[in-house]
Amino acid sequence: MNTLSDPIVKRFEAVRQILIGSGALPSNAMQLACPSLPEAIVPRLLRAGADAESVTLALSEAFSMPVYSESLHDSLDYAADGASAWADGRLFVTDPFACQHLIRNPQLVLPKEALDRHRGETGLIPVQPSAHSEAARDPSLSPEAEQILHEWIALAIDRQASDLHIVPRDNEAVEIKMRRNGLLLTLREERMVMSEKCNYRLISNTLLTLSGNQHGVYNTPKDGSLEVPLRGRTFFIRVNMCPVTIGRKVWGSFTLRIVAGYQRSVQTLDQLALGLSFVQALRRIVAMNSGLFLLTGPTGAGKTTTFYALVMEILRRNHSQISIKTLEDPIEMQIPGIDQIQINDDIGMSYSAGLRALLRADPDVILIGEIRDEETARLACRASLTGHLVLSTLHTNNSLGAIERLRNLGIHSHLIADTLAAVSAQRLVRQVCPYCATREYDEAGWEATCLLGLPPGEFGPVARPEGCERCEHSGYRGRICIAETLFLDSRLAGRISDGAGLAPLYDTARAQGFRGLWDHATDLVHAGQTTWAECLRILPEPPGEPFRVPESHTLPLQLTFTENYAS
Ligand SMILES: [Zn+2]
Repeated sequence: MNTLSDPIVKRFEAVRQILIGSGALPSNAMQLACPSLPEAIVPRLLRAGADAESVTLALSEAFSMPVYSESLHDSLDYAADGASAWADGRLFVTDPFACQHLIRNPQLVLPKEALDRHRGETGLIPVQPSAHSEAARDPSLSPEAEQILHEWIALAIDRQASDLHIVPRDNEAVEIKMRRNGLLLTLREERMVMSEKCNYRLISNTLLTLSGNQHGVYNTPKDGSLEVPLRGRTFFIRVNMCPVTIGRKVWGSFTLRIVAGYQRSVQTLDQLALGLSFVQALRRIVAMNSGLFLLTGPTGAGKTTTFYALVMEILRRNHSQISIKTLEDPIEMQIPGIDQIQINDDIGMSYSAGLRALLRADPDVILIGEIRDEETARLACRASLTGHLVLSTLHTNNSLGAIERLRNLGIHSHLIADTLAAVSAQRLVRQVCPYCATREYDEAGWEATCLLGLPPGEFGPVARPEGCERCEHSGYRGRICIAETLFLDSRLAGRISDGAGLAPLYDTARAQGFRGLWDHATDLVHAGQTTWAECLRILPEPPGEPFRVPESHTLPLQLTFTENYAS
């Protein structure tokens, strides 16, 4: 039974109706019942899917209360209870259902100082209740919070992590995790209230402020960046904040990507663990004067590192008598002798705008951080037709996928055939620790040989990671590259021009000796460099290969033996 008075239920129904009418709630939300506690009304509407802004506007309409606006009112002074504030002689509340008593009788709650400034008018603060009111009371920066953040970042950097995750687990605890070698590991757990001077809200506010965002607002995702000096280097870090709702509170869940700073200088093609065949393929690109070269792979596959090494090699080969210009987002490392341009969408410096400007500046080689729209793709093709070597990346599963992706971006098959010189795909897999690996048959090998359709004889003993002190008991040390490169010869270009699909293109490439990611992976597994399990985790399924499980063979577990690699 509802114990609320009729006016409150009527107000609830009015707010619900406004939200359905504005599309902030689906029409079946008509069945949403009024909770028995008035302070549960707004959280229920938010949980039903209405966004905080729509709820505020609906409350404003139903209660005839104005919404606080930075441009119209003085800045807000929050009361100790966090649910109310005053500005410009007006009392502002976050949730009029929860603050009925306050609206009717502010003398009971507000301190005298507040009352003196409050002249009997009420308004709304346009954010989610509780989360914001607490946040807004907190300062935007605190030295204690900065110190703790610095410690966490240093912890991740010292362990060579690529990402640091700061994840509120419940309203009490926050988990600090890091991604290293592609795997997410928990570093430590902290209480939300860390000390008298510092809590998680303060840390979130500080991180938002340091990364160039407004603090205290947690209802929408935020992006930013910050630079952290550590051990004589500067680390460039990209910050992403996602709101997570736990109970009635909204917290910021942060992902910090350590984009640059680990290396002091660009590594050469020979210094990177790229593998001989990939380095040879890249040297063929270096020798080209024009054409389009695409490198594909997901984020974190090492594409930028490969490109920097490639550009350095081009510079060296041409004795620096060449103009190389790059469009990057962000510039991860400064390369002497190269003009690097930072992409900035906020000021209109998009990839396509940058590329148009750059083409007028007479470059020989152009590196485009990423092709993600039709215009950039079109300009890149045109530039490679007019005597430029154009290098760029695409997000596709494998090298053949790039052709499909360019077609989807609206590039005609003829133009692709005329401009595309080569496409590579690369992935990083963890390398087996040489100090502790043993050798044996494993089940993942069975799965991989089935996936590749290899004869059962191919399923031999492979390295088995054991774990020792040198690899922190993970069985792996560092990462190595698995790659494939597809060069377009006249026959393949002809098939592309004819509009052939991926399967016939794959067969044509195969017939000309193309070796795919799984071929390279098989070599590395047989050489004891990585494992089938690692390849199955990282690599996409091979194109054109059937997935078939041989029926007449079972896993020969009785053959398991071990043999130490290091011996
Ligand atoms: Zn080891």
